[in-house]
Amino acid sequence: MSSLAVIAEVIKRAGNVLICGHIMPDGDCLGSVLALGLALEKIGIKATMAGPDPVPAVYAFLPGAEKFVSGDPPEGNYDTLIILDCSVPERLGKGYRELAEKKDLTVINIDHHHGYNPFGRYRYIDPSAAAVGEIVFDLLHLMQVRIDSAIATCLYTAIITDTGSFQYNNTTPNTHRRVAELLECGAPAAQVNIRLYEEKPRAALLLLGKALNSLKISTCGRVSWMTVTLEDLKSAGAVDEHADGLVNYARSVMGVEVGMLFREVSEGKYKVSFRSKKAVDVNRLAALFGGGGHPRAAGCVIQGELEDLKEKIVSAAILAAGGSSL
Ligand code: 5GP
Ligand code: MN
Ligand code: MN
Repeated sequence: MSSLAVIAEVIKRAGNVLICGHIMPDGDCLGSVLALGLALEKIGIKATMAGPDPVPAVYAFLPGAEKFVSGDPPEGNYDTLIILDCSVPERLGKGYRELAEKKDLTVINIDHHHGYNPFGRYRYIDPSAAAVGEIVFDLLHLMQVRIDSAIATCLYTAIITDTGSFQYNNTTPNTHRRVAELLECGAPAAQVNIRLYEEKPRAALLLLGKALNSLKISTCGRVSWMTVTLEDLKSAGAVDEHADGLVNYARSVMGVEVGMLFREVSEGKYKVSFRSKKAVDVNRLAALFGGGGHPRAAGCVIQGELEDLKEKIVSAAILAAGGSSL
């Protein structure tokens, strides 16, 4: 582990930086990548903001989103690679995984996930940070970059999305202090919240209807789960990003401790999202199936026959939640 101050110095000496996040980028990933990229450009450091997957439509409003390069790492004479919000190689995509191993590149990893963070000569991992956006905020202070309204908008989005609008217990007094400063720097909070939560495409709501129809609750009442198949996506006219946040409905049932969403990503391959209320460490639960994340939000990708997978995973969740049987 390096200190954030050391990382600030290393970045200030860089000339040409590639900044990337994880596959299927969320608000924290994109907000952090774009905020840091815009900040580096401001102080005259060449920065490319990039990642393996494209910017979901809901985040297209973010300042700098139009510069985001998706797919394989773009060609360039980079001296530094900064990886944000990614703890495991699988979530980096093949191209970036290979790049992260290059010896002639200074690799910096800044993250807030629990567990294994194998990348980078310089690593700053703070699982107590609610979002990588919080760490980037602190980093910009250390680098003495003035946060303008564009950067503030990106960091505000990063923090609001990873804290569930300050609902989750990763939210601290310092989260609010940082956000207060972001508002002073010109983050348009109300506008951002409208873009994120009040302008849902019709397809996303149709998909929500299908997901709610699939809701199941264990006999013990501690675990609930929903299923979204490729067929559901197709008939709702929805795309993957419209499934974001659905899992929260499973958790929101009274008495439920663990909520899960099984989403088919390709024939026989499923993304499982886990959320817990207050007791179960879903990071550990997801790890049983090759995934990971945070104590209250985690995920994994798993292959097999849907009913078998559900039985295995739901049983493990019930055990973890202190329930008795399916
Ligand atoms: P979500 O369910 O929203 O996709 O992910 C929730 C959290 O779990 C995120 O913080 C993410 O980092 C983590 N996560 C999601 N899917 C995976 C996965 O397949 N592997 C690992 N290690 N973490 C994941
Ligand atoms: Mn993320
Ligand atoms: Mn994050």
